[in-house]
Amino acid sequence: MKNWFKLFVTGIILVTVTACGNQEGTPQESEGNDTENVQTALNVVATNSIIADMAEQVGGDLINMHSIVPVGTDPHEHEVLPEDIQKAEEADIILYNALNLETGNGWFNNLMETTNKTENEDFFAVSKDVEPLYLTSAGQTDQADPHAWLDLQNGIKYVREIEQIFISKDPTNETTYTANADAYIEQLNELDTQAKSAFNDIPEEKKLLVTSEGAFKYFAKAYGLVGGYIWEINTESQGTPEQMTQIIDSVETSEVPVLFVETSVDSRSMERVSQETGLPIYTEIYTDSIAKEGEPGDSYYNMMKWNIEKVHEGLNQTRGEAQPLNE
Ligand SMILES: [Zn+2]
Repeated sequence: MKNWFKLFVTGIILVTVTACGNQEGTPQESEGNDTENVQTALNVVATNSIIADMAEQVGGDLINMHSIVPVGTDPHEHEVLPEDIQKAEEADIILYNALNLETGNGWFNNLMETTNKTENEDFFAVSKDVEPLYLTSAGQTDQADPHAWLDLQNGIKYVREIEQIFISKDPTNETTYTANADAYIEQLNELDTQAKSAFNDIPEEKKLLVTSEGAFKYFAKAYGLVGGYIWEINTESQGTPEQMTQIIDSVETSEVPVLFVETSVDSRSMERVSQETGLPIYTEIYTDSIAKEGEPGDSYYNMMKWNIEKVHEGLNQTRGEAQPLNE
């Protein structure tokens, strides 16, 4: 009798929990979280800090945000930690870039399989509406270049997609998500307009943006530069003799005055290019991660603004006289 009663009570609890969990479009309650919006907020997980920042701009207080790949770290490859699995399991929404970003060591697909998640139900590609550019190095011609967000118009597409995903999971807050996205997109559009004419005063022969990874294809296309690089994507071998010869050649046949390095790569290869060509590394710029909070570049907007301003400043230097920004 006692056992029967126990089963009965357990049954009631299970039915109640399942019913709560199944309410369409209602945010799930999160467990063990001490933030004040714990009762109603959507648990959102993003693969990297750039997507996480965009999501926070759209979601505001209505979401609890977690970025899997930490700030300053390369999202192409990632060692999945037990914490990542837990966060993914608890998530109402998981946002990833796709376009070949999270494919190094297959970490993201493995994580989605491990946590039994389904595309377009649990996890979503924020680049869905972007027209991809493709990698060009040998053997990679059908592989998309992931760095679409470095063109602000693509970033705006990401924001709209995030807005739609939030609305689909939490329709009661549609007005807030749309108002947040609209205000944010207005700022991004303004910055994009500035960027479109920012490099007009740089002579063509100096318009070579040299970075370690070839992450600036979308940026270069949108803002009228040519992207030069040592390796095309971080999942390749980095700084091979062939890659070094190629980049040193293109630097020497141009009039470019400075080099750049990204915050989320090993800078030693670019330091070698600097030694070989005699050109300084002007400053660090942002590709695959935003900066730590409080530093310049600590949001998607701020990293784009920094990249536009510093690349412009750097390319405006005179060859032979240019000095690194911080020295
Ligand atoms: Zn990258």
